[in-house]
Amino acid sequence: MESRLPKPTGLKRPTPSIKPILPTDRIKAATNANLTYNGSTTIQPLTRDLQNIIPQAMKRQGQGVRAASPDPMKSMSAPNRAKLRRSRSACDISEMRQNLKRNGIPNLPTIPTKCPRRAAVPPTTTTNPTTVARTVRAGSAPVKRPNAGSAPPPASVSTSQRPLPRTGTAAATATTNKTKSSASAAGGAATAPKRIAPYDFKARFHDLLEKHKALKTKYEKQVDDMGELESLPMQLEETQAKLIETESTLKHAQTDNECLQRQVKQQTEKIEMITSALGETRLELQDLKVTHQDIKSEHEFLSTEVQHLRRRNEELIRSNEQLQAELNTCREQLFQSNIERKELHNVVMDLRGNIRVFCRVRPPLESEAGRLMCNWIYHDEATVELQSLDAQAKSKMGQQIFNFDQVFHPNSNQIHIFEMVAPLIQSALDGYNICIFAYGQTGSGKTYTMDGVPDNVGVIPRTVDLLFDSIRNYRNLGWEYVIKATFLEIYNEVLYDLLSNDQKEMEIRMAKNCNKNEIYVSNITEETVTDPNHLRQLMELAKMNRATASTVGNERSSRSHAVTKLELIGHHAEKQETSIGSINLVDLAGSESPKTSIRMTETKNINRSLSELTNVILALLQKQDHIPYRNSKLTHLLMPALGGNSKTLMFINVSPFQDCFQESVKSLRFAASVNSCKVAKAKRNRFVNNSNNSSINSSSEK
Ligand code: ADP
Repeated sequence: MESRLPKPTGLKRPTPSIKPILPTDRIKAATNANLTYNGSTTIQPLTRDLQNIIPQAMKRQGQGVRAASPDPMKSMSAPNRAKLRRSRSACDISEMRQNLKRNGIPNLPTIPTKCPRRAAVPPTTTTNPTTVARTVRAGSAPVKRPNAGSAPPPASVSTSQRPLPRTGTAAATATTNKTKSSASAAGGAATAPKRIAPYDFKARFHDLLEKHKALKTKYEKQVDDMGELESLPMQLEETQAKLIETESTLKHAQTDNECLQRQVKQQTEKIEMITSALGETRLELQDLKVTHQDIKSEHEFLSTEVQHLRRRNEELIRSNEQLQAELNTCREQLFQSNIERKELHNVVMDLRGNIRVFCRVRPPLESEAGRLMCNWIYHDEATVELQSLDAQAKSKMGQQIFNFDQVFHPNSNQIHIFEMVAPLIQSALDGYNICIFAYGQTGSGKTYTMDGVPDNVGVIPRTVDLLFDSIRNYRNLGWEYVIKATFLEIYNEVLYDLLSNDQKEMEIRMAKNCNKNEIYVSNITEETVTDPNHLRQLMELAKMNRATASTVGNERSSRSHAVTKLELIGHHAEKQETSIGSINLVDLAGSESPKTSIRMTETKNINRSLSELTNVILALLQKQDHIPYRNSKLTHLLMPALGGNSKTLMFINVSPFQDCFQESVKSLRFAASVNSCKVAKAKRNRFVNNSNNSSINSSSEK
C-alpha cells in the first residue's frame, strides 16, 4: 500500500551507500503503530460503522441495497441485533442531519463507530454518506464484513479516491483516530463518565460533537505534526545530500589541508634555510662591510698616492723623453764610436800585419824526458835562436835566428796564446775574413794549439766562447748575429764532410752574383749554431768522424788538413747594415819530409798543398797579378781568407828536440818568409742595404 501522505516532489532517492531513514519508520516509532500509512498496518477509517449503517438506512429508505445485504436480521445474533439498533440509530442521525441541514445547521461529521470488532474497511469508503451511497448505487462490490480479529484486507485506494486530510473531517477523524476509536468502541461503556441513553440522541449528538471537536483539534494538531514529519524525509535527504556534499568538501578540505600542511612544512624548512642563510649572509655582510671600510681607507690612501704618482709619472715622462733623446744621441755616438773603434782596430791589425806569424815551441812531455833537445835562445818575445847540438850541423846551417810577430816559449799557456788571437776574432765580427793556420811537423803541437785538451782547451773552443760573448755585447748595440759552421777535411786533395758520414762528391765552387773571391763547397753540411754548447757538440762530432777515418796503419789525421769554418752574419735592423765575416781555423797536415817511399802519393799531396800555400803567400808578397789559389784544394778553399780581404795568422809549431832540428829549421824558415810577406791592406765586408728590397750593395773600404 502506498503512503497516504503526499509524496515530496523533487525528492531524490538516497544513495545506496547511505541507509536512508524512511519517514514511515519514524512515523511508526512516533505513533507506536497506532497510526500507519503503509500496507503493514491496516488503517481503519472512522467511517467504517457508518458504512455498515448506511446500507441499513438506505434499506429503510427503500434504495436498493438489499442485494448487498439480503435479509440481515434473520441471520443476526443478539449482539448483532444490538449493533443493528445502533446502526438504525445512526440512520436516524442521518435523518436528523438532513433536518439540521435544512434548518441551517452545518454538516456534521460522521459519527465514528464504537465497535472494536469490526474489521477494517478499505479507505475507499468515503466519509460522506452520499459518496458511500453513490458507490453502492454504482454497483460496486459490496464490502464484506470480515470476521472479528482477522487481518484487515489490503485496500488499494487510488489517490483521487483518498479523502483530503483537512476537507473531509469525518474521514480524517476516522483515519487518524482509528485505533483510538476502536478502543473507544471496544470499551466505551467503561471509559464514559456517564452513560447516555441510546435514545437520547441529542445528548449523544452533543457528546459526539464534543468528541468530534476534541478529535478534530487533535487531528489538526497531528496533521500539523504529520506535515512536519512529512517534510522530515525531504529535509533528511537534503541533509544527507548536504552531508555527502559536506563530507566530500571535508575530504577535499582534508586533502587540501594535508597539501597545505606539506607546503607549510616545506615553506617552514625553506624559511629556516633562508633564515640560516640570511644569518650567514649577515655575517658575511658584516665582514664585507669591514673589508669595504678597509678597502675604502686604502682606496683613499691609494687615490692620494695615485695623484702623487701621476704627478711623479708626468715628471718621469718628461725626464724619460729627455733621457730618450739623450739615449738616442748616445746610441748614435756609440754606433759611430763603434765604427771608429773598428776602424782603429783594423788600423792596428794592419799595422801588425795582415799575415801574422806566431812561433810556438812545445815543451817536452814527461815521456820524452830522455830525448835530446836543441838549444833554444829566446832573445825577445819576437825573436828566437835555434842552435843544434851537433857541431857539424851547427857550422853547416850557420846562425839560426828567426823573427816572428810573437814567439811563445814552452812555458806559454793556452790563455796567453789566445790573448794574442782574440783581436782577430773581434775583426771577424766586424766583417773581416780571418784565417788561422797551425803549421809544423807531426807531433809539434798543432792540434794541441788549435783544439787543446779537455782541461786546457785551445784556440778553437776559446774562439767559440769569445764569439758568443761578443755577440751578446753587440746585441746591445743593435746587432744580431747568426753563426753557420762547416767542418771538412782535405786528404789527398779530396774533400770530406766531417759532419756527415755519407759518401758524397764535394766541390769548391765560385758563388754567383757575388764578390769574385766568394766561394762555397757543394753538398757540405752547414749547421746554424745558436749557443756555444751546440758548437762544441758539432766540433766533437767532426773530431770523432776524422778519427774514425784514420786507422792504425794509416794515420790520416796527421796527413790531412782539417778546416773549421765559422761564418758570422750580423745585421743591424735600425741602420740597415749587414756584416759578414768568417773565421777559418786550419789544422794543417804534418810538414815533415818523406823518409820512405811508403805513402809517396800522400806525402806528395801534402807537400804540394803546403808549397802551394807558400806560393800563394809569396805571390801576395810580391803583389803578382795572378795568385795561384786554385793549384791546390787548400789554397782554393782558403782563397777568401788569403789576400786582400783577409787577416791571416799562422802558428808555427816546432818540437824542441834535437832529432827534429832539420824540420824545425825548415818550418821556421817558411814562417819567416811568410812573415815578411806584405799583403795589401785588408778590405772589410760591409753591406749597406739602402732599400727595402733584397738586393745587397757591396762596398769595400781601402
Ligand atoms: P801534432 O798535432 O802537430 O801532430 P800534437 O798536438 O798531437 O802534435 O802534440 C803532440 C803531443 O804533444 C801531444 O801529446 C800534445 O798533448 C803534446 N803537446 C803539444 N804541444 C804542447 C804544449 N804546448 N804543452 C803541453 N803539451 C803539448
